[in-house]
Amino acid sequence: MSTDVLRSISPQDPTDVVTERAVASDAALADVFAGAWAAQRMWWAGGAAARAAALSAAAAALSARRSDAIELVVREVGKPLIEATGEVARSVAILNYYAQACFAATGAQLPPSAKGLLYSDRRPHGVAGLITPWNFPLAIPLWKAAPALAAGNAVVLKPSPDAMACADMLAELFAPLLPEGLFSVVHGAGPTGEAVVARADVVSFTGSAKVGAAVASAAVSRGVVVQCEMGGQNAAIVLPDADPFSTAAMIAGAAMGYAGQKCTATRRVIVVGPNDAFVEQLGEAVADLRVGDPADAATVVGPVINEPAHSKLTAAFESARNDGGKVLAGGHLLDRRGWFVEPTLVAGLSPDHELAQEETFGPLALVLHADDVAHAVEISNAVRFGLVTSVHGRDLDAVLSAVRDIDTGLIKINAPTAGVDFYAPFGGEKDSSIGQREQGTAALDFYSSTRTVTIAPHAPSS
Ligand code: NAD
Repeated sequence: MSTDVLRSISPQDPTDVVTERAVASDAALADVFAGAWAAQRMWWAGGAAARAAALSAAAAALSARRSDAIELVVREVGKPLIEATGEVARSVAILNYYAQACFAATGAQLPPSAKGLLYSDRRPHGVAGLITPWNFPLAIPLWKAAPALAAGNAVVLKPSPDAMACADMLAELFAPLLPEGLFSVVHGAGPTGEAVVARADVVSFTGSAKVGAAVASAAVSRGVVVQCEMGGQNAAIVLPDADPFSTAAMIAGAAMGYAGQKCTATRRVIVVGPNDAFVEQLGEAVADLRVGDPADAATVVGPVINEPAHSKLTAAFESARNDGGKVLAGGHLLDRRGWFVEPTLVAGLSPDHELAQEETFGPLALVLHADDVAHAVEISNAVRFGLVTSVHGRDLDAVLSAVRDIDTGLIKINAPTAGVDFYAPFGGEKDSSIGQREQGTAALDFYSSTRTVTIAPHAPSS
Protein backbone atom coordinates (compact mmCIF):
# COMPACT_ATOMS: atom_id res chain seq x y z
CA MET A 1 0.00 0.00 0.00
CA SER A 2 1.29 3.46 -0.87
CA THR A 3 2.14 5.64 2.14
CA ASP A 4 -0.05 8.27 0.48
CA VAL A 5 -3.08 6.10 1.17
CA LEU A 6 -4.40 5.27 4.63
CA ARG A 7 -6.74 2.43 5.55
CA SER A 8 -9.11 2.25 8.45
CA ILE A 9 -9.58 -1.39 9.46
CA SER A 10 -12.28 -2.88 11.66
CA PRO A 11 -10.61 -4.10 14.91
CA GLN A 12 -12.98 -7.06 15.32
CA ASP A 13 -12.32 -8.22 11.76
CA PRO A 14 -8.95 -7.08 10.40
CA THR A 15 -9.93 -8.29 6.91
CA ASP A 16 -12.67 -5.62 6.84
CA VAL A 17 -11.30 -2.40 5.32
CA VAL A 18 -13.81 0.24 6.44
CA THR A 19 -12.37 2.96 4.25
CA GLU A 20 -9.27 3.84 2.28
CA ARG A 21 -8.40 7.51 1.87
CA ALA A 22 -5.65 9.50 0.21
CA VAL A 23 -3.41 11.60 2.42
CA ALA A 24 -4.15 15.29 1.77
CA SER A 25 -1.38 16.90 -0.26
CA ASP A 26 0.05 20.31 0.64
CA ALA A 27 -1.77 21.86 -2.30
CA ALA A 28 -5.07 20.28 -1.22
CA LEU A 29 -4.57 21.58 2.33
CA ALA A 30 -3.85 25.08 1.04
CA ASP A 31 -7.12 24.96 -0.95
CA VAL A 32 -9.10 23.68 2.04
CA PHE A 33 -7.82 26.50 4.25
CA ALA A 34 -8.45 29.13 1.56
CA GLY A 35 -12.03 27.87 1.22
CA ALA A 36 -12.42 27.81 5.01
CA TRP A 37 -11.32 31.44 5.44
CA ALA A 38 -13.73 32.56 2.73
CA ALA A 39 -16.61 30.55 4.22
CA GLN A 40 -15.85 31.80 7.73
CA ARG A 41 -16.31 35.44 6.72
CA MET A 42 -19.79 34.68 5.34
CA TRP A 43 -20.70 32.50 8.31
CA TRP A 44 -19.78 35.20 10.85
CA ALA A 45 -21.48 37.91 8.83
CA GLY A 46 -24.63 35.77 8.59
CA GLY A 47 -25.35 36.22 12.32
CA ALA A 48 -26.27 34.09 15.31
CA ALA A 49 -29.75 33.02 14.16
CA ALA A 50 -28.39 31.55 10.93
CA ARG A 51 -25.66 29.68 12.81
CA ALA A 52 -28.18 28.33 15.31
CA ALA A 53 -30.50 27.16 12.53
CA ALA A 54 -27.67 25.38 10.70
CA LEU A 55 -26.42 23.62 13.85
CA SER A 56 -29.98 22.54 14.71
CA ALA A 57 -30.33 21.16 11.20
CA ALA A 58 -27.02 19.30 11.64
CA ALA A 59 -28.36 17.75 14.86
CA ALA A 60 -31.54 16.67 13.06
CA ALA A 61 -29.53 15.23 10.16
CA LEU A 62 -27.37 13.14 12.48
CA SER A 63 -30.39 12.03 14.46
CA ALA A 64 -32.13 10.92 11.26
CA ARG A 65 -29.09 8.78 10.35
CA ARG A 66 -28.43 7.51 13.89
CA SER A 67 -28.73 3.79 13.04
CA ASP A 68 -26.09 4.15 10.30
CA ALA A 69 -23.90 6.20 12.61
CA ILE A 70 -24.11 3.61 15.41
CA GLU A 71 -23.33 0.79 13.00
CA LEU A 72 -20.32 2.67 11.64
CA VAL A 73 -18.90 3.45 15.10
CA VAL A 74 -19.24 -0.23 16.06
CA ARG A 75 -17.59 -1.37 12.83
CA GLU A 76 -14.80 1.19 12.55
CA VAL A 77 -13.53 1.45 16.15
CA GLY A 78 -15.00 -1.70 17.76
CA LYS A 79 -17.11 0.22 20.28
CA PRO A 80 -19.75 -2.00 21.93
CA LEU A 81 -23.25 -1.33 20.60
CA ILE A 82 -24.60 0.09 23.84
CA GLU A 83 -21.76 2.62 24.11
CA ALA A 84 -21.90 3.47 20.40
CA THR A 85 -25.63 4.18 20.81
CA GLY A 86 -24.82 6.47 23.74
CA GLU A 87 -22.11 8.26 21.75
CA VAL A 88 -24.45 9.02 18.85
CA ALA A 89 -27.16 10.31 21.22
CA ARG A 90 -24.59 12.51 22.93
CA SER A 91 -23.33 13.81 19.57
CA VAL A 92 -26.85 14.93 18.64
CA ALA A 93 -27.23 16.57 22.07
CA ILE A 94 -23.92 18.42 21.65
CA LEU A 95 -25.09 19.89 18.34
CA ASN A 96 -28.42 20.95 19.85
CA TYR A 97 -26.72 22.47 22.90
CA TYR A 98 -24.32 24.58 20.81
CA ALA A 99 -27.12 25.54 18.41
CA GLN A 100 -28.81 27.28 21.34
CA ALA A 101 -25.47 28.60 22.62
CA CYS A 102 -25.27 30.78 19.49
CA PHE A 103 -27.67 33.10 21.34
CA ALA A 104 -25.62 33.31 24.55
CA ALA A 105 -24.28 36.69 25.68
CA THR A 106 -20.93 37.46 24.07
CA GLY A 107 -19.68 40.06 26.51
CA ALA A 108 -20.47 42.45 29.32
CA GLN A 109 -21.31 46.10 29.71
CA LEU A 110 -19.13 48.02 32.18
CA PRO A 111 -19.39 51.48 33.72
CA PRO A 112 -17.50 53.92 31.44
CA SER A 113 -14.91 56.22 33.05
CA ALA A 114 -16.58 59.21 31.37
CA LYS A 115 -19.75 59.67 29.30
CA GLY A 116 -20.39 56.95 26.73
CA LEU A 117 -20.27 53.19 26.63
CA LEU A 118 -17.72 50.57 27.70
CA TYR A 119 -18.30 46.95 26.78
CA SER A 120 -16.53 43.72 25.96
CA ASP A 121 -17.45 41.50 23.04
CA ARG A 122 -16.17 38.22 21.64
CA ARG A 123 -15.25 37.42 18.05
CA PRO A 124 -14.14 34.20 16.37
CA HIS A 125 -10.47 33.43 15.72
CA GLY A 126 -11.02 32.38 12.07
CA VAL A 127 -10.33 28.76 11.10
CA ALA A 128 -10.17 26.17 13.88
CA GLY A 129 -7.76 23.27 13.26
CA LEU A 130 -9.06 20.21 15.11
CA ILE A 131 -6.96 17.08 15.57
CA THR A 132 -8.74 14.12 17.07
CA PRO A 133 -8.18 10.51 18.23
CA TRP A 134 -10.19 7.44 17.25
CA ASN A 135 -11.84 6.46 20.51
CA PHE A 136 -14.83 8.84 20.36
CA PRO A 137 -14.93 9.18 16.58
CA LEU A 138 -18.10 11.32 16.48
CA ALA A 139 -18.35 12.91 19.94
CA ILE A 140 -14.82 14.36 20.15
CA PRO A 141 -14.85 15.96 16.67
CA LEU A 142 -18.28 17.39 17.53
CA TRP A 143 -17.49 18.66 21.01
CA LYS A 144 -14.76 20.70 19.32
CA ALA A 145 -16.47 21.57 16.01
CA ALA A 146 -19.90 22.55 17.39
CA PRO A 147 -18.63 25.29 19.76
CA ALA A 148 -16.08 26.43 17.15
CA LEU A 149 -18.88 26.88 14.59
CA ALA A 150 -21.29 28.38 17.14
CA ALA A 151 -18.68 31.02 17.98
CA GLY A 152 -18.39 31.89 14.28
CA ASN A 153 -15.31 29.97 13.15
CA ALA A 154 -14.78 27.61 10.22
CA VAL A 155 -13.43 24.12 10.95
CA VAL A 156 -10.73 21.95 9.40
CA LEU A 157 -10.83 18.53 11.09
CA LYS A 158 -7.97 16.03 10.90
CA PRO A 159 -9.30 12.81 12.40
CA SER A 160 -7.30 9.76 13.40
CA PRO A 161 -6.43 7.42 10.53
CA ASP A 162 -8.31 4.75 12.54
CA ALA A 163 -11.57 6.72 12.43
CA MET A 164 -11.66 8.29 8.97
CA ALA A 165 -15.06 6.94 7.93
CA CYS A 166 -16.84 8.42 10.96
CA ALA A 167 -15.34 11.85 10.22
CA ASP A 168 -16.36 11.54 6.57
CA MET A 169 -19.90 10.74 7.65
CA LEU A 170 -20.06 14.05 9.56
CA ALA A 171 -18.71 15.94 6.52
CA GLU A 172 -21.28 14.25 4.27
CA LEU A 173 -24.16 15.02 6.66
CA PHE A 174 -23.17 18.66 7.11
CA ALA A 175 -22.33 19.44 3.47
CA PRO A 176 -25.88 20.42 2.43
CA LEU A 177 -26.47 22.38 5.65
CA LEU A 178 -23.38 24.54 6.01
CA PRO A 179 -21.76 27.00 3.58
CA GLU A 180 -19.29 25.28 1.27
CA GLY A 181 -15.83 25.04 2.84
CA LEU A 182 -17.01 25.82 6.39
CA PHE A 183 -16.51 22.28 7.73
CA SER A 184 -13.81 20.21 6.02
CA VAL A 185 -12.14 16.91 6.81
CA VAL A 186 -8.54 16.29 5.76
CA HIS A 187 -6.96 12.88 6.09
CA GLY A 188 -3.44 11.94 7.03
CA ALA A 189 -1.23 10.96 9.95
CA GLY A 190 1.24 13.05 12.00
CA PRO A 191 2.60 15.23 9.16
CA THR A 192 -0.93 16.23 8.09
CA GLY A 193 -1.70 17.13 11.71
CA GLU A 194 1.46 19.27 11.78
CA ALA A 195 0.39 21.01 8.56
CA VAL A 196 -3.02 21.80 10.09
CA VAL A 197 -1.34 23.25 13.20
CA ALA A 198 0.90 25.32 10.94
CA ARG A 199 -2.09 26.99 9.23
CA ALA A 200 -4.98 27.20 11.71
CA ASP A 201 -5.97 30.32 13.69
CA VAL A 202 -6.89 28.25 16.77
CA VAL A 203 -5.92 24.64 17.53
CA SER A 204 -7.70 22.01 19.58
CA PHE A 205 -6.08 18.59 19.98
CA THR A 206 -7.09 15.39 21.75
CA GLY A 207 -4.73 12.42 21.85
CA SER A 208 -1.56 11.19 23.51
CA ALA A 209 0.58 13.31 25.83
CA LYS A 210 3.64 13.06 23.60
CA VAL A 211 1.89 14.33 20.47
CA GLY A 212 -0.07 16.94 22.46
CA ALA A 213 3.15 18.48 23.82
CA ALA A 214 4.50 18.83 20.26
CA VAL A 215 1.21 20.29 18.98
CA ALA A 216 1.10 22.82 21.83
CA SER A 217 4.64 24.06 21.28
CA ALA A 218 4.14 24.32 17.50
CA ALA A 219 0.96 26.37 18.00
CA VAL A 220 2.47 28.58 20.71
CA SER A 221 5.50 29.28 18.53
CA ARG A 222 3.05 30.73 15.96
CA GLY A 223 1.22 32.70 18.65
CA VAL A 224 -1.93 30.69 18.09
CA VAL A 225 -4.36 29.80 20.89
CA VAL A 226 -4.20 26.06 21.66
CA GLN A 227 -5.75 23.48 23.93
CA CYS A 228 -4.64 19.85 24.23
CA GLU A 229 -6.54 17.09 26.04
CA MET A 230 -4.37 14.06 26.59
CA GLY A 231 -4.01 10.89 28.59
CA GLY A 232 -4.91 9.87 32.11
CA GLN A 233 -3.71 7.34 34.67
CA ASN A 234 -6.87 7.65 36.68
CA ALA A 235 -7.38 6.26 40.16
CA ALA A 236 -10.48 5.05 41.97
CA ILE A 237 -10.01 5.37 45.75
CA VAL A 238 -12.09 2.86 47.70
CA LEU A 239 -12.79 3.82 51.32
CA PRO A 240 -13.33 1.09 53.94
CA ASP A 241 -17.08 1.83 54.18
CA ALA A 242 -17.81 1.55 50.44
CA ASP A 243 -20.37 -1.09 49.53
CA PRO A 244 -18.17 -3.87 48.06
CA PHE A 245 -20.70 -5.15 45.51
CA SER A 246 -21.98 -1.98 43.88
CA THR A 247 -18.54 -0.33 44.05
CA ALA A 248 -16.83 -3.32 42.44
CA ALA A 249 -19.41 -3.41 39.62
CA MET A 250 -19.04 0.33 39.00
CA ILE A 251 -15.23 0.27 38.96
CA ALA A 252 -15.08 -2.85 36.76
CA GLY A 253 -17.22 -1.02 34.18
CA ALA A 254 -15.19 2.19 34.45
CA ALA A 255 -11.91 0.32 33.98
CA MET A 256 -12.88 -2.15 31.27
CA GLY A 257 -15.83 -0.68 29.34
CA TYR A 258 -14.89 -0.24 25.66
CA ALA A 259 -11.79 -2.32 26.49
CA GLY A 260 -10.41 0.46 28.70
CA GLN A 261 -9.88 2.73 25.69
CA LYS A 262 -11.09 5.95 27.29
CA CYS A 263 -8.89 8.72 28.62
CA THR A 264 -11.14 8.64 31.70
CA ALA A 265 -10.95 4.86 32.30
CA THR A 266 -9.95 3.72 35.80
CA ARG A 267 -6.36 2.39 35.64
CA ARG A 268 -5.53 2.15 39.35
CA VAL A 269 -7.84 0.99 42.14
CA ILE A 270 -6.46 2.22 45.46
CA VAL A 271 -7.97 0.28 48.35
CA VAL A 272 -7.80 2.03 51.72
CA GLY A 273 -7.07 -0.37 54.61
CA PRO A 274 -7.41 -4.15 54.49
CA ASN A 275 -10.47 -5.02 52.40
CA ASP A 276 -10.25 -8.54 50.99
CA ALA A 277 -14.01 -8.69 50.44
CA PHE A 278 -13.89 -5.75 48.03
CA VAL A 279 -10.80 -6.97 46.15
CA GLU A 280 -12.34 -10.42 45.70
CA GLN A 281 -15.57 -8.84 44.51
CA LEU A 282 -13.72 -6.62 42.04
CA GLY A 283 -11.90 -9.65 40.58
CA GLU A 284 -15.25 -11.39 40.12
CA ALA A 285 -16.88 -8.32 38.59
CA VAL A 286 -14.05 -7.99 36.04
CA ALA A 287 -14.13 -11.71 35.21
CA ASP A 288 -17.90 -11.51 34.69
CA LEU A 289 -17.75 -8.77 32.06
CA ARG A 290 -19.00 -9.98 28.73
CA VAL A 291 -16.23 -9.95 26.08
CA GLY A 292 -17.15 -10.40 22.45
CA ASP A 293 -18.46 -9.00 19.20
CA PRO A 294 -19.10 -5.28 19.76
CA ALA A 295 -22.20 -5.50 17.57
CA ASP A 296 -23.79 -7.78 20.19
CA ALA A 297 -25.94 -5.73 22.60
CA ALA A 298 -24.72 -7.77 25.59
CA THR A 299 -21.01 -7.07 24.96
CA VAL A 300 -19.20 -4.77 27.38
CA VAL A 301 -15.61 -5.37 26.22
CA GLY A 302 -14.84 -5.51 22.51
CA PRO A 303 -11.44 -5.58 20.83
CA VAL A 304 -8.60 -3.09 21.21
CA ILE A 305 -8.14 -0.81 18.24
CA ASN A 306 -5.27 -2.38 16.27
CA GLU A 307 -2.27 -4.68 16.21
CA PRO A 308 0.15 -2.26 17.98
CA ALA A 309 -2.38 -1.84 20.82
CA HIS A 310 -2.72 -5.64 21.05
CA SER A 311 1.07 -6.07 21.20
CA LYS A 312 1.31 -3.38 23.89
CA LEU A 313 -1.20 -5.30 26.02
CA THR A 314 0.70 -8.56 25.46
CA ALA A 315 3.89 -6.89 26.69
CA ALA A 316 2.04 -5.37 29.67
CA PHE A 317 0.70 -8.78 30.79
CA GLU A 318 4.21 -10.22 30.55
CA SER A 319 5.74 -7.34 32.46
CA ALA A 320 3.11 -7.65 35.23
CA ARG A 321 3.85 -11.36 35.66
CA ASN A 322 7.64 -10.97 35.45
CA ASP A 323 7.61 -8.28 38.12
CA GLY A 324 5.63 -10.29 40.66
CA GLY A 325 2.11 -9.11 39.84
CA LYS A 326 -0.75 -11.39 40.86
CA VAL A 327 -3.39 -11.70 38.17
CA LEU A 328 -6.81 -11.54 39.87
CA ALA A 329 -8.80 -11.76 36.63
CA GLY A 330 -8.03 -12.22 32.93
CA GLY A 331 -4.44 -11.94 31.79
CA HIS A 332 -4.73 -13.65 28.40
CA LEU A 333 -5.09 -12.80 24.77
CA LEU A 334 -8.19 -14.31 23.21
CA ASP A 335 -7.84 -16.88 20.49
CA ARG A 336 -10.34 -15.42 18.04
CA ARG A 337 -10.34 -13.19 14.99
CA GLY A 338 -9.74 -9.54 15.89
CA TRP A 339 -7.65 -7.75 18.50
CA PHE A 340 -9.24 -9.17 21.64
CA VAL A 341 -7.67 -9.44 25.09
CA GLU A 342 -9.26 -10.43 28.39
CA PRO A 343 -10.14 -7.64 30.83
CA THR A 344 -7.35 -7.97 33.36
CA LEU A 345 -6.92 -7.02 36.99
CA VAL A 346 -3.47 -7.25 38.60
CA ALA A 347 -2.46 -6.81 42.25
CA GLY A 348 0.94 -6.78 43.93
CA LEU A 349 2.81 -4.25 41.78
CA SER A 350 4.37 -1.13 43.25
CA PRO A 351 2.69 2.25 42.61
CA ASP A 352 5.99 3.19 40.91
CA HIS A 353 5.78 0.33 38.41
CA GLU A 354 5.61 1.50 34.81
CA LEU A 355 2.16 -0.07 34.42
CA ALA A 356 0.94 2.08 37.33
CA GLN A 357 2.59 5.20 35.96
CA GLU A 358 1.95 5.12 32.18
CA GLU A 359 -1.19 4.54 30.08
CA THR A 360 -1.55 1.13 28.46
CA PHE A 361 -4.87 2.30 26.98
CA GLY A 362 -6.47 -1.11 27.19
CA PRO A 363 -8.48 -3.33 29.57
CA LEU A 364 -5.86 -3.49 32.31
CA ALA A 365 -6.20 -2.11 35.84
CA LEU A 366 -4.04 -2.47 38.93
CA VAL A 367 -5.06 -2.91 42.56
CA LEU A 368 -2.88 -0.87 44.94
CA HIS A 369 -3.13 -0.52 48.72
CA ALA A 370 -3.05 2.53 50.99
CA ASP A 371 -2.94 2.81 54.79
CA ASP A 372 -5.38 5.71 55.00
CA VAL A 373 -7.07 8.38 52.88
CA ALA A 374 -4.07 10.73 52.90
CA HIS A 375 -1.85 7.89 51.68
CA ALA A 376 -4.38 6.99 48.97
CA VAL A 377 -4.42 10.58 47.72
CA GLU A 378 -0.61 10.66 47.77
CA ILE A 379 -0.50 7.53 45.58
CA SER A 380 -3.26 8.86 43.34
CA ASN A 381 -1.38 12.14 42.77
CA ALA A 382 2.04 10.50 42.23
CA VAL A 383 1.73 10.17 38.44
CA ARG A 384 2.46 12.66 35.68
CA PHE A 385 -1.20 12.74 34.59
CA GLY A 386 -4.07 14.56 36.28
CA LEU A 387 -7.32 13.88 34.47
CA VAL A 388 -9.90 12.27 36.80
CA THR A 389 -10.15 10.51 40.17
CA SER A 390 -13.12 8.80 41.77
CA VAL A 391 -13.67 8.28 45.49
CA HIS A 392 -16.10 5.63 46.74
CA GLY A 393 -17.58 5.47 50.23
CA ARG A 394 -19.82 7.18 52.77
CA ASP A 395 -17.41 8.86 55.21
CA LEU A 396 -18.02 12.53 54.42
CA ASP A 397 -14.87 13.75 56.22
CA ALA A 398 -12.73 11.34 54.22
CA VAL A 399 -14.46 12.33 50.98
CA LEU A 400 -14.02 16.04 51.66
CA SER A 401 -10.34 15.70 52.53
CA ALA A 402 -9.77 13.66 49.36
CA VAL A 403 -11.59 16.25 47.22
CA ARG A 404 -9.44 18.99 48.74
CA ASP A 405 -6.12 17.26 48.04
CA ILE A 406 -6.66 15.32 44.79
CA ASP A 407 -4.85 17.08 41.95
CA THR A 408 -6.95 16.04 38.93
CA GLY A 409 -9.19 18.30 36.83
CA LEU A 410 -12.25 16.08 37.38
CA ILE A 411 -13.32 14.42 40.64
CA LYS A 412 -16.18 11.93 40.92
CA ILE A 413 -17.67 10.82 44.23
CA ASN A 414 -19.45 7.46 44.11
CA ALA A 415 -19.48 7.78 40.33
CA PRO A 416 -17.28 6.14 37.70
CA THR A 417 -14.14 7.93 36.43
CA ALA A 418 -15.39 7.32 32.89
CA GLY A 419 -18.20 9.51 31.59
CA VAL A 420 -18.37 13.14 30.57
CA ASP A 421 -21.13 15.75 30.82
CA PHE A 422 -20.77 17.77 27.62
CA TYR A 423 -22.26 20.91 29.19
CA ALA A 424 -19.71 21.04 32.06
CA PRO A 425 -16.07 22.16 31.77
CA PHE A 426 -13.85 19.18 30.94
CA GLY A 427 -10.08 18.84 31.29
CA GLY A 428 -7.19 17.81 33.45
CA GLU A 429 -4.00 18.99 35.11
CA LYS A 430 -0.29 18.22 34.66
CA ASP A 431 0.45 16.14 31.52
CA SER A 432 -3.26 15.50 30.89
CA SER A 433 -4.12 18.96 29.57
CA ILE A 434 -2.67 22.14 28.17
CA GLY A 435 -4.73 25.31 27.84
CA GLN A 436 -8.36 26.13 28.51
CA ARG A 437 -11.07 23.61 29.38
CA GLU A 438 -13.25 22.02 26.69
CA GLN A 439 -17.04 21.68 26.50
CA GLY A 440 -19.83 23.73 28.07
CA THR A 441 -19.48 27.49 27.86
CA ALA A 442 -15.71 27.16 28.42
CA ALA A 443 -15.48 25.99 24.80
CA LEU A 444 -17.26 29.12 23.50
CA ASP A 445 -14.66 31.23 25.29
CA PHE A 446 -11.83 29.16 23.84
CA TYR A 447 -13.01 29.55 20.24
CA SER A 448 -13.33 33.34 20.48
CA SER A 449 -11.31 36.26 21.74
CA THR A 450 -12.41 39.26 23.75
CA ARG A 451 -12.09 42.83 22.62
CA THR A 452 -12.97 45.81 24.73
CA VAL A 453 -14.84 48.68 23.11
CA THR A 454 -14.96 52.25 24.41
CA ILE A 455 -17.45 54.63 22.83
CA ALA A 456 -17.31 58.27 23.83
CA PRO A 457 -19.59 61.06 22.56
CA HIS A 458 -18.05 63.10 19.79
CA ALA A 459 -16.96 66.42 21.26
CA PRO A 460 -17.50 69.37 18.90
CA SER A 461 -14.55 71.81 18.84
CA SER A 462 -16.56 74.83 20.01
P1 NAD B 1 -2.41 10.06 19.08
O1 NAD B 1 -1.73 11.10 19.89
O2 NAD B 1 -1.60 8.99 18.50
O3 NAD B 1 -3.17 10.75 17.83
C1 NAD B 1 -4.12 11.77 18.02
C2 NAD B 1 -4.23 12.57 16.72
O4 NAD B 1 -3.01 13.29 16.50
C3 NAD B 1 -4.42 11.70 15.47
O5 NAD B 1 -5.31 12.37 14.61
C4 NAD B 1 -3.02 11.65 14.88
O6 NAD B 1 -2.99 11.38 13.50
C5 NAD B 1 -2.53 13.07 15.18
N1 NAD B 1 -1.07 13.25 15.20
C6 NAD B 1 -0.11 12.32 15.37
N2 NAD B 1 1.12 12.91 15.35
C7 NAD B 1 0.91 14.24 15.17
C8 NAD B 1 1.76 15.39 15.09
N3 NAD B 1 3.10 15.28 15.19
N4 NAD B 1 1.20 16.60 14.92
C9 NAD B 1 -0.14 16.76 14.84
N5 NAD B 1 -1.01 15.70 14.90
C10 NAD B 1 -0.49 14.47 15.07
O7 NAD B 1 -3.62 9.48 19.99
P2 NAD B 1 -4.64 8.28 19.67
O8 NAD B 1 -3.92 6.98 19.75
O9 NAD B 1 -5.42 8.59 18.44
O10 NAD B 1 -5.66 8.40 20.92
C11 NAD B 1 -5.43 7.83 22.16
C12 NAD B 1 -4.93 8.89 23.14
O11 NAD B 1 -5.89 9.94 23.23
C13 NAD B 1 -4.78 8.37 24.55
O12 NAD B 1 -3.58 8.86 25.12
C14 NAD B 1 -5.99 8.95 25.29
O13 NAD B 1 -5.82 9.10 26.68
C15 NAD B 1 -6.13 10.26 24.60
N6 NAD B 1 -7.49 10.80 24.75
C16 NAD B 1 -7.68 11.87 25.57
C17 NAD B 1 -8.94 12.40 25.76
C18 NAD B 1 -9.16 13.60 26.64
O14 NAD B 1 -10.16 14.29 26.44
N7 NAD B 1 -8.29 13.88 27.59
C19 NAD B 1 -10.04 11.82 25.10
C20 NAD B 1 -9.82 10.71 24.27
C21 NAD B 1 -8.53 10.23 24.09
